[in-house]
Amino acid sequence: MKAPSFAYTKPQSLPEVFDLLERHGAGARVLAGGQSLLASLNLRLSAPEILIDIAGLPGMSGLRVEGPLLRIGALATHREIEQSPDVARHLPLLAQAVPHIAHVAIRNVGTFGGSVALADPAAEHPACALALGANFVIAGRRGERRVAAGDFFRGLYQTALEPGELLVAGEFPVLSPGYRSAFAELARRQGDYAIVGLAAHGRVDGGRYGDVRLAFLGAGDRPLLARKAMAALEGKPFGSASIESAQAALGDDLDPPADLTTSREAKLHLARVLTGRALRALAA
Ligand SMILES: Cc1cc2nc3c(=O)[nH]c(=O)nc-3n(C[C@H](O)[C@H](O)[C@H](O)COP(=O)(O)OP(=O)(O)OC[C@H]3O[C@@H](n4cnc5c(N)ncnc54)[C@H](O)[C@@H]3O)c2cc1C
Repeated sequence: MKAPSFAYTKPQSLPEVFDLLERHGAGARVLAGGQSLLASLNLRLSAPEILIDIAGLPGMSGLRVEGPLLRIGALATHREIEQSPDVARHLPLLAQAVPHIAHVAIRNVGTFGGSVALADPAAEHPACALALGANFVIAGRRGERRVAAGDFFRGLYQTALEPGELLVAGEFPVLSPGYRSAFAELARRQGDYAIVGLAAHGRVDGGRYGDVRLAFLGAGDRPLLARKAMAALEGKPFGSASIESAQAALGDDLDPPADLTTSREAKLHLARVLTGRALRALAA
């Protein structure tokens, strides 16, 4: 199928984008890398009257360390993140997760902001942002605001972005001493969206788990923190007993929806397998 006809414009500044969004309302869609949006147009799942191309807008690209934060511009591509020495050093969770996103050709074009704004529950960036306690920077006509990742994802493809707003960046706390990260996912083929995945981050000094955050992807309508499993790990020594108690607690934390290929029970089983792998990796 081909996309329905639409107008196209490429503004040069954020105020111009806000004017266009105000003028066209629900008929406008922002175009970043186009890796999800253009497919949805071609399938006629969406029929906007105008696409507003934000590529190249000032202040939205690149990555930089700003004191205790690493700021990732919404227009930074997955590939830039994957190859960034700053990400490897300060956000090893993202360095592990991003190679799981699609294929290199898609990672060359798809953007951090597009992935976060789309809010696919099986996407890697949202779960990593949740595990790492990132904030998202949102800009609109009235200025900027920051929303914690835990408040940003509101449901299936639903976010805290209001009409007329753009996501401009993510701000991630850089890795603290004594903390480690582990990412694991299971997909039918390399490059497919995950069936279930896990972004894990926590303190591991002294042979005990502390402040561990387990953020699952593909296990609900949005990225989810497994709070009971996290509580079960607090202060517990490395080893099978601690891992098994976290795995058991997942039954209270997660209620993954069955889909065409995988039942609820199978997803829960996979979530437990990934939890074991990630917790062993954190302790290694
Ligand atoms: C075959 C294939 C496999 C894929 N596999 C995976 C995968 O395994 N994991 C994964 O995470 N992703 C996967 N993707 C999606 C890919 O990561 C996309 O790059 C990403 O979802 C969207 O980024 P984009 O820059 O292409 O956004 P676009 O497609 O341009 O936009 C996506 C949506 O976000 C909105 N948007 C974009 N930028 C902003 C912004 N700054 N502010 C507000 N709204 C904005 C758009 O209006 C649109 O609604 C896959 C895609 C394909 C085609």
